[in-house]
Amino acid sequence: MSSYVVGFPRIGEKRELKFALERYWSGKTDFSEVERVAKELKLRHWNYQKEAGVDLISVNDFSLYDNMLDTAIMLGAIPERFRGLEGEELYFAMARGNKDAVAMEMTKWFNTNYHYIVPELTTNDSYRLNASKIVNEYKEAKEAGISPKINLIGPITFLALSKRVDRGDTFELLGKILPIYEELLTELSKLDESVTVQIDEPYFVKDLEAKELSLIKPTYDKLSSVAKNITIVVSTYFEHATEATNILVNTGIDTIGLDFIYGKENIQSLEKIAAKGKKVIAGVVDGRNIWINNIDESLELLNKIAAIVGKENITVGTSCSLLHTPFTLEYEEKLNRDVKSWMAYAKEKLQELVILDKLFFEGKEALTEKQKELLAANRAANKTRKSADIIHDKAVQKRINSNFALERADKFEDRIKLQHELFNYPTLPTTTIGSFPQTKEVRKARRDFKNGKISEAEYKDAMKAYIDDCVAFQEEAGIDVLVHGEPERNDMVEYFGEQLKGFAFSENGWVQSYGSRCVKPPVIYGDVSRPKPMTVEWITYAQSKTQKVMKGMLTGPVTILNWSFVRDDLERSEVSKQIALAIADEVSDLQDAGIKMIQVDEAAFKEGYPLRASKIPTYEEWAVRDFKICVAPAVATTQIHTHMCYSEFNDIIRTIEAMDADVISIETARSGNELLKIFAKVGYKQEVGPGVYDIHSPRIPSVEEIVTQINKLLEVLPAKQLWINPDCGLKTRKWEEVKPSLKNMVEAVKIVREQL
Ligand code: GLN
Ligand code: ZN
Repeated sequence: MSSYVVGFPRIGEKRELKFALERYWSGKTDFSEVERVAKELKLRHWNYQKEAGVDLISVNDFSLYDNMLDTAIMLGAIPERFRGLEGEELYFAMARGNKDAVAMEMTKWFNTNYHYIVPELTTNDSYRLNASKIVNEYKEAKEAGISPKINLIGPITFLALSKRVDRGDTFELLGKILPIYEELLTELSKLDESVTVQIDEPYFVKDLEAKELSLIKPTYDKLSSVAKNITIVVSTYFEHATEATNILVNTGIDTIGLDFIYGKENIQSLEKIAAKGKKVIAGVVDGRNIWINNIDESLELLNKIAAIVGKENITVGTSCSLLHTPFTLEYEEKLNRDVKSWMAYAKEKLQELVILDKLFFEGKEALTEKQKELLAANRAANKTRKSADIIHDKAVQKRINSNFALERADKFEDRIKLQHELFNYPTLPTTTIGSFPQTKEVRKARRDFKNGKISEAEYKDAMKAYIDDCVAFQEEAGIDVLVHGEPERNDMVEYFGEQLKGFAFSENGWVQSYGSRCVKPPVIYGDVSRPKPMTVEWITYAQSKTQKVMKGMLTGPVTILNWSFVRDDLERSEVSKQIALAIADEVSDLQDAGIKMIQVDEAAFKEGYPLRASKIPTYEEWAVRDFKICVAPAVATTQIHTHMCYSEFNDIIRTIEAMDADVISIETARSGNELLKIFAKVGYKQEVGPGVYDIHSPRIPSVEEIVTQINKLLEVLPAKQLWINPDCGLKTRKWEEVKPSLKNMVEAVKIVREQL
């Protein structure tokens, strides 16, 4: 019997690491202060696990920035431009850049909202082991009375997520990095009589190519033969790892970690595991969500697993690292009591894990009094969750089961003709994506209103003043389709969540997004509905200030879903449909209030894609369905826009088309028109606004530059299909950057229009 935590969050329950890092980066403290805080946090987190009774506790799950970056350092994979630097200077330069060198790229860790640093490799690299971080953490833990396992990112996942500077195949470098891993294991084997090493290979849950699969056996045969006293756990998560598991069982490794929450199919590989005498870490406590475990259901699942592999071969574990959950509910004082009783953050999950482990192996008698209480509370909460009125809203369910419009009544071809007649906008119409700079004053007004320091009237005046300025500027610049600037929104999801029923907001539910950055996702706990209009007052006010068309601005269902903690007692697709109906009400109200263009942002549409190709069609089906539901009330003369924050449309162009928006604005500025070719190639009909300049940089694009960019677009798509806009919202920029940039954009359009 034993309980196993794949990894623990590190930022600190009061985000201590974040603040220590940021103080150090701004020169307010020296590095020793960061080290002190880091040491304290590691110790605290180990002790939390130990006190809860967890048997297998990780070291090297901690990181000052990111574990992929740590792995690059461990291997000595240092890009040329950082050579000469050392220690923390090197480390943070790689992560964040310095005055001479740009930072390494960062991208999303599988389908989570965590971002890792993308290692840059070349065929000339010569790797050298640097095991000091790992060895030191191990010793630190031992000194603190913890007997830890050691977490590593596996060589195959490391290479799969790295890039080669010459764009070649990173797997060609396996022969070079594998010896470093072997050397590392040799070092680690000397640390103790017996040492457990967890090698994370989440890449194994993807649809691996035959060539990739063929790397698994030789790699793990090698690693498992390095030292007799090392126990190797290969840890997979976020999906099932069937193909890789079937190979791993034929290597010398001891244990395979499987995610039974997001990879139910893992059940199918248990027979092979049993036949080969391997052990299983059964990930049954959700590491990616914040809901309490259903202990009785988990026990049932564990029994099912045990029936195949034998109880003695099971360790009860988390589905993945708890990195993706906040720390503890202890500081949540404002959450609704019932909602809170249905939630578990990382620290609470430790209790669940240990209780499950004891119940499974020893029975109820083994629980302490405290654990018995927790178990009773867990059962009671799971019960109330099934019937609570604040979750199960009869009106929502009635509506979901009723007949409602699934799509717009008119076809695109007919709509767009009417729209052109009505709007009569010029060739290459100009617009923006929605937000304008969030100034200190705007943030302060929002904060003061929230804290009751100013009245609602004062708050509204402040917002309206901002909108006035926004409208005046856009008119002066000569932009064709205006926006109100979104001053009332802190965040494009939070703003809607706060006004929808079924959402809760935590005070301290922070999760690391990257480096020192954390996000606090909304919590969707119950059936979703819209008690009253959410944006109509602002948008109609803005429209009243101009003769030009004011574009209404909403966030789409899939994006709201992907950036929230979503209830796990209802299918995601059902939650999404509820949100879609709520947004549909808003579209309808905006239209009734005289708003003629409405943009429904689906910034995170692509992020929600499943890791397994076989699951993509189902996702696409409901994601498209729900976008269409939310814009269904729009009549032919209401123009529907959408916006997406990426540019790689090759795989999903048909899906985008099926969403049936009249206009889509996208983020192509940094990638040029290469990626746009797909629109022409498939004969995409709807109108497109490929970003003509990159808003992620403070640089002001010149008129000439934008002219060149527009001309490039015209090589790929006809003028009558094109809109001209920046590539994303402008809220993170300063007015000093935005004003000249947009003026240049309009100037550039004028020049190109003349040429046409
Ligand atoms: N309308 C939003 C804005 O402009 C869209 C943001 C986004 O694409 N992430 O801020
Ligand atoms: Zn965007």
